[in-house]
Amino acid sequence: MKDLIGQTVFASRVGALLLRNEAVIVAFHRVQETAEPDDPLTIDVGLFERHCRFFRRYFRVVPLRDIVEKLERGQRLKRELAITFDDGYRDNFETAAPVLRRLGLPATFFVVTQWMGTDVVPFWDKERGARHPWMTWDQVRALHDQGFEIGAHTRTHADLGRISGVEAQRELLGARLDLAVAIGAPADLFAYPFGGLDRLTDANRELVKDAGFRCCCSAVGGTNATGSSPFDLRRIPISAWHKSPSQFGFELAFGRSLLTA
Ligand SMILES: [Zn+2]
Repeated sequence: MKDLIGQTVFASRVGALLLRNEAVIVAFHRVQETAEPDDPLTIDVGLFERHCRFFRRYFRVVPLRDIVEKLERGQRLKRELAITFDDGYRDNFETAAPVLRRLGLPATFFVVTQWMGTDVVPFWDKERGARHPWMTWDQVRALHDQGFEIGAHTRTHADLGRISGVEAQRELLGARLDLAVAIGAPADLFAYPFGGLDRLTDANRELVKDAGFRCCCSAVGGTNATGSSPFDLRRIPISAWHKSPSQFGFELAFGRSLLTA
């Protein structure tokens, strides 16, 4: 049912009217050949491609930087959509990027800088008895060379709702420096870990600005309206829970994408 309505809404241009002054930012974590149905962070590559084709058909898919620049200049948003990935899993390079390249779509990869090229297993994967490798720095650089944007997601997936001062600065400025050294270009896009509104204090949001980042992405569902702050960007996490792109369209059109990850 939702599926049908979602399709109809977008096909009938109602979706275009609803999103006339807005931009959408979507967030993925892992894209793999197959996905467990109860795994909120992985979607299978077939579904990923269907989502990408849906984005390409109904939105203007742009690099996240374009949305940030429009907000900085006070320009009107016009149905842009930016594709982002959190954490830096290796399947981003091996499985997602080839699909994006084939479809000619830009994307931003937010990486946990001190986990790249290591065998760290984060607690959420440990809890599931799972182990998913990180990208190597060579792979991150290759994505950058292919024209994708690389952004920071702190050094160690820090909870910026709980740390402060020098500790927070080390996670923020440190991640920016790590990226500058590793990819040889300034990285000024930032997404905070865990993504819920309580996972970033106001003081730390100021540190994000001080560190030289130009934006700050949450993982709180919703669209971004013209005139909103680039340091308070909403993102819609997409998981296998969105069984089809049309369901995503339905949630978006009716403002019900309130999932957080
Ligand atoms: Zn994360």
